Amino acid sequence: MSEIRTIGILGGGQLGRMLSVAASRLGLRCHIFEPGAAPAGDVAWRVTNAPYEDEAALREFALSVDVITYEFENVPTSALDLLESIRPIRPNRRALAVSQDRLTEKTFLNDIGLTTAPFADVPDQAALEGAIAQIGRPSILKTRRMGYDGKGQVRIGKDGQADWTGAPSVLEGFVAFTAEISVIIARGADGQVAAFDPGLNVHEGGILRTTTVPSGQPARVSTDAVLIAARIANALDYVGVLGVEMFVTPQGLIVNEIAPRVHNSGHWTQAGCAVDQFEQHIRAVASLPLGDGKRHADVVMENLIGDDMDRVPDLLRAPRTQVHLYGKGEARPGRKMGHVNRISG
Ligand code: ATP
Ligand code: MG
Repeated sequence: MSEIRTIGILGGGQLGRMLSVAASRLGLRCHIFEPGAAPAGDVAWRVTNAPYEDEAALREFALSVDVITYEFENVPTSALDLLESIRPIRPNRRALAVSQDRLTEKTFLNDIGLTTAPFADVPDQAALEGAIAQIGRPSILKTRRMGYDGKGQVRIGKDGQADWTGAPSVLEGFVAFTAEISVIIARGADGQVAAFDPGLNVHEGGILRTTTVPSGQPARVSTDAVLIAARIANALDYVGVLGVEMFVTPQGLIVNEIAPRVHNSGHWTQAGCAVDQFEQHIRAVASLPLGDGKRHADVVMENLIGDDMDRVPDLLRAPRTQVHLYGKGEARPGRKMGHVNRISG
């Protein structure tokens, strides 16, 4: 068995919560570090509620754990430097740096031979016109950092005015995709990989609505998708679970973005696999062998967003349905409150 008993998790949202539950099933315990509200704190061994600038709190947190992971990629560099001087961080800093910044991310993906949407650096508003001339319309302007659930994005139509995001950005050519899929892949400290089946993702208003497995894509597309994810994981010398979002096009797969953590589009694995993405991540960062991630059921995962919570009483009565609620307070519009996994085959 590994020497690791206590895992530190940066971020205390629903992903940290589900990671903590998975760790507890393996006899491990989690210490959450979270500056804000921490639904993960309900199920973890300890929670430190402090800002990322609080060096004493960071130091005490690091000393109390054996390894540090994260459920949130926008942790400030100064905090990571301090933490890493005390305990290892998995996945490593390069994986974080690459995925924190859309410009670095796309450049990295192209450098390892993968296709992204055409893109241009737009450091300030003055550069926007030149970037549009290069990339064309329609296109999407995205802030380089801190975007999630479609936030920090401006769509630039066929004509009309182009608004500014307010921060350094990249302009991406609009991809006419036939489907969106993602691969959730785990890579162990020994370099072994285990990929879950690709899922078909449907977004609404920039937020993931459903993930369906099997994805309905031909086997060769699924194979390509898994190969792409494995290539990224190897190139980053990655340890943990990685999410890779891709667009399916008639010309092949285009990588949209990567997430160096468990991913919303991998929640279906809780109902579809013996070992789900959360446990696979815990196993990898704790230097345990990866488990069996083979899919044994067809699943549709649906996010419960905002007032979808009104449907919970009915969902609790539905057959072959897992309800996962995150224990967050108020159900505001656009807020992810939980999800359901419906087993369909
Ligand atoms: P999330 O946190 O859900 O991953 P995000 O804020 O990081 O989202 P993206 O994944 O970049 O944002 O974009 C959200 C969605 O917008 C995509 O899943 C896709 O549906 C659409 N989209 C993004 N970029 C493009 C593009 N270049 N062409 C066409 N559609 C796009
Ligand atoms: Mg995305």
